[in-house]
Amino acid sequence: MSDAELVLRSTRVITPEGTRAASVAVTDGRITAVLPHDAPVPESARLEDLGDHVLLPGLVDTHVHVNDPGRTEWEGFWTATRAAAAGGITTLVDMPLNSLPPTTTVPHLRTKQQVAADKAHIDVGFWGGALPDNVKELRSLHEAGVFGFKAFLSPSGVDEFPHLERDQLARTMAEIAAFGGLLIVHAEDPHLLSSAPQRGGPKYADFLASRPRDAEDTAIARLIREAKALDARVHVLHLSSSDALPMIAQARAEGVRVTVETCPHYLTLTAEEVPDGASEFKCCPPIREAANQDLLWQALADGTIDCVVTDHSPSTADLKTDDFATAWGGISGLQLSLAAVWTEARRRGHGLEDVVRWMSTRTSELVGLDDRKGAIAVGRDADFAVLAPDETFTVDPVALQHRNHVTAYAGRTLHGVVKSTWLRGQRIVADGEFTEPKGRLLTRTS
Ligand SMILES: [Zn+2]
Repeated sequence: MSDAELVLRSTRVITPEGTRAASVAVTDGRITAVLPHDAPVPESARLEDLGDHVLLPGLVDTHVHVNDPGRTEWEGFWTATRAAAAGGITTLVDMPLNSLPPTTTVPHLRTKQQVAADKAHIDVGFWGGALPDNVKELRSLHEAGVFGFKAFLSPSGVDEFPHLERDQLARTMAEIAAFGGLLIVHAEDPHLLSSAPQRGGPKYADFLASRPRDAEDTAIARLIREAKALDARVHVLHLSSSDALPMIAQARAEGVRVTVETCPHYLTLTAEEVPDGASEFKCCPPIREAANQDLLWQALADGTIDCVVTDHSPSTADLKTDDFATAWGGISGLQLSLAAVWTEARRRGHGLEDVVRWMSTRTSELVGLDDRKGAIAVGRDADFAVLAPDETFTVDPVALQHRNHVTAYAGRTLHGVVKSTWLRGQRIVADGEFTEPKGRLLTRTS
């Protein structure tokens, strides 16, 4: 570490080998050494002694709807990346829909990159979108650096992003498999959704009944069948139904290349506690019962679920009406994901190492960024969150950096206060004070 510019020292550094007292040396934005806590600091280096605060790798959130440009009143790159930074996230991958244009052609990707470039407080990458009519665009989007392609098997909620019918899924999957890409899927079966009782209104139980587990299970089963037939790599987005877990585990055991994510709201909120009319809790698939949640935690523990991502999908407050059928479906939680998951994880006896694995290491692996992100290890970017894990705070929506102050976590007391967040060795936020944007745009190949 003789040429180190910066040394971060903590009694609790989370490394791939476990948590230990260490000094982390940084040069040119990268980690160059992980040394004993009392290692001498070279004269060239600035020492940042974090005391007992935990130093963890910055989180990598691969499921965020930034909505910029086009629906910037819902969220935008400026607000989303500040919120993310405040929550300990140093990389996000933006979903291809809800912005206008959606990320479904290379020119659209360029538009989005241009908009994001000078607003990104953290590193930003992009997913592409797979629509019924853009199969011929996928390879060029792949070559332009998107991390994979999102498709819906049921209506997406916005007209400009139609879902894939059965034959279209097979065609899309075959095309993506041909160039070794990744297909990520919103898996709910449209026929089972339309045959479920659609009562509408303010009762959460009615909404839950309108998006049954069976719709998820059936769509996931189909996805697995197609992936197996084509030897394609697929990823199940925002798993909510625990009933799908055994077949996922079985498919993986048989060598099917399927990975799975779930979200903080499925892990920390339950159907039983959603008040009538409280559509800030509406998302698709829905938040289910407490017993379902227990099984999701079990699957995280045993590795059937790979990772945890926010699926931050906000809207303006006026779209969050008290009718669950028509209210915007999406939960806003970007800034709170680390604290929310940590609060419940610790209650269930998991460690911060587990949270780091689910929210940083595995998500980096999902998008192939694990040579740069996702661990405090030599050669990785010096992206960090500094966390006081035992400190608590009560969620005040107005105090969040999200564009809109609507969140299902309002009023909750959470464990884990992010003291500062670092990107490539530079502190980008500390105690609510942000620097100018220092994020970079990431591509799959660079
Ligand atoms: Zn989403």
